[in-house]
Amino acid sequence: MTGRLQGHVAIVTGGGKGIGRAVVDRFVAEGARVGVLVRSETDVRSLTTQHGDHVLPIIGDVRNWADNLAAVEATTERWGRLDTLIPNAGVYDFSDRFESIPGETLAERWREIFEVNVQGYLLAARAGLEPLRASRGSIVFTLSSSSFYAGGGGTLYVSSKHALVGTVRQLAYELAPEIRVNAVAPGGTRTGLRGADGDGRSLAEIEGFDAMVARNVPLGFLSEPRDHAGLYVTLALRSESGFVTSEIIRSDGGIEVRGG
Ligand code: NAD
Repeated sequence: MTGRLQGHVAIVTGGGKGIGRAVVDRFVAEGARVGVLVRSETDVRSLTTQHGDHVLPIIGDVRNWADNLAAVEATTERWGRLDTLIPNAGVYDFSDRFESIPGETLAERWREIFEVNVQGYLLAARAGLEPLRASRGSIVFTLSSSSFYAGGGGTLYVSSKHALVGTVRQLAYELAPEIRVNAVAPGGTRTGLRGADGDGRSLAEIEGFDAMVARNVPLGFLSEPRDHAGLYVTLALRSESGFVTSEIIRSDGGIEVRGG
């Protein structure tokens, strides 16, 4: 590693595992210090065992304003600045078909998905504004191929990820010129992505997921979290992407050109 992020301070939400964790690992390898909003002591131990005092894990829930603010305050107190904020924590709906959700539970199911996937991103972004403006930093959201296409989730997940396209665009517009706002949109990735609290399902347990993704993308394989991590570094660095805002980089094996 070339250490392109020496002196750089970032925050990743949901950075204990999966894509967020790969981003933390890559940022630390590049020389950054990283505050990580996680949900469990297990995540804290795993992060500190691997990265020692290069990471600052903070236990919290992205649905709460106070927890997002605490992550920003703890990180800026420890390292004096914030350069990149990466809202990433998300939950999945396991492609539940719209008609299968009883009408009387629909509002609750909508809230469970949107509170994490959309509200969690907005709260993180709001909490980070002041230090990001001070550093002329940037926000890099984790979006999804489900921000552009149908069929990679159910109506609730796909609509939550589509909502984030508007979030990236409007924030890029409002926060310029001090803060750049961009995103990485991964396609199918080998992680343990879970449902909302109380929904015991996990992406890792879906039989045939690897083969299904591989069949559906021209590049022909299921990606690993680390396959996306370098794109976050590029978007974080003003030296590499200083004229880039409102951009969503697709890291999805070429879904758009898959043909019939
Ligand atoms: P993951 O389950 O490994 O990571 C999600 C993280 O979010 C976990 O660490 C989890 O603890 C955390 N989280 C969930 N709810 C939270 C809450 N209320 N408060 C704090 N943290 C919470 O799964 P992943 O696949 O790495 O997901 C990361 C992001 O990538 C999500 O936004 C997901 O929608 C997106 N994504 C995943 C895929 C895929 O195929 N795995 C594809 C495209 C986009």
